[in-house]
Amino acid sequence: MLIHLRTLGCRLNEAELETWAQAFQKAGHQITRELAQANLVIINSCAVTQDAARKSRQLIRRIHRDNPTAKLVVSGCYATLNEDEAAQLMGVDLVISNKDKAQLVEQTLSQLNFDSMPAMSTEPAEHSLFSRGRQRAFIKVQDGCRYRCTFCIVTVARGEEQSRTIEAVIDEINTLHQQGINEVILTGVHLGGYGSDIDCDLSTLIRTILDKTEIPRLRLGSLEPWELPEDFFSLFKNPRLMPHLHLPLQSGSDSVLRRMARRCKTEEFAAIVAKAREEIPHFNVTTDVIVGFPSESEEEWQQSFEFIKQVGFGDMHIFSYSHREGTKAATLANPVNNEVKKQRSKQLHELAAQMKQDFIQTQLGESFSVLWESQRESSEEGKPSYFGYTPNYLRVANMGVDSGDLENTICSATLDVAIEGAVLVR
Ligand code: SF4
Repeated sequence: MLIHLRTLGCRLNEAELETWAQAFQKAGHQITRELAQANLVIINSCAVTQDAARKSRQLIRRIHRDNPTAKLVVSGCYATLNEDEAAQLMGVDLVISNKDKAQLVEQTLSQLNFDSMPAMSTEPAEHSLFSRGRQRAFIKVQDGCRYRCTFCIVTVARGEEQSRTIEAVIDEINTLHQQGINEVILTGVHLGGYGSDIDCDLSTLIRTILDKTEIPRLRLGSLEPWELPEDFFSLFKNPRLMPHLHLPLQSGSDSVLRRMARRCKTEEFAAIVAKAREEIPHFNVTTDVIVGFPSESEEEWQQSFEFIKQVGFGDMHIFSYSHREGTKAATLANPVNNEVKKQRSKQLHELAAQMKQDFIQTQLGESFSVLWESQRESSEEGKPSYFGYTPNYLRVANMGVDSGDLENTICSATLDVAIEGAVLVR
């Protein structure tokens, strides 16, 4: 059977898609990038915002329209929060909520009467990640979150914290490394909460991965800026742990952070970043910020802007607050009007672009080992160009390569010139 997999939203959804791809291959089926060829389509949906939920419905309809004969299975946060609605969408044969995601492959094969043909399972011609044009693997290590940030629907859709065992994570990483993967990214809903339900913690997981695998590059996904274990930053002494952290700040105003029910004040956040910069060479910190949270006053906005400027970030994801049914924030008074939100978002994008350039400037002339990903366009002379990331998560480009195929190789490069969206190397 030919199976096509699609995901929207977060890296966790991407990691789950990868796990399902491998499980379907083990069950003797094949993964195809071509929707039209597929007998079965799996969609991992998203509902982080109203807009994401709308896009999930849109994708479901489009896929059914473009391949009406394929069986259609929908999972993910949109399907979990709107199970009946999802089940009634045209073409949907099966809805699997987040709590049953680990059994998605078995349930799909049994409930849709597809044979499982383990005998047919041959070593996939090409690892399903590579066949999907990817060289870095997201590894889901935990799910769910015990916190209730007032703007967050994910904690509602994904439930309580559940950690995978260290052994299961090590096995998956070793399998991926044997199949040619050189970088894995640990991801979760609340990565910092890893181990809370199995008497373990994130530091122990990282240390054990560095001890029991030979994966060249280990990267951490988004990490809430609290509960970081005492010895956390000493782990980065190991050059296989990438010196980059994505620490969602959400606001640089303490009174807004209180209304968001965030567990980290600006002072604590600044202290974490200062400690990391002190201990880890070339450390890059990136973040998420919401502008226009209900009743965010001009004064609070100025506080937030000044704090962000003072800390400085290598990159930022900026979100304009959007009303999300089912969250506590949706019940808060004094919504900020759209025009003001737009202005604040524009101001912050300008600051973010400047800070990114400032950080890149401090890295020019430095040499880093780069994992080169897929070849992109060719230079005038027809020589291939490659993109990749430095350990501290700078996107770099190698234009007009005549030293053979760089795809999925790690080699040193010197940062030369900053260009739009990347840094040219020599
Ligand atoms: S810690 Fe993260 S996942 Fe948990 S409620 Fe807050 S924003 Fe959502």
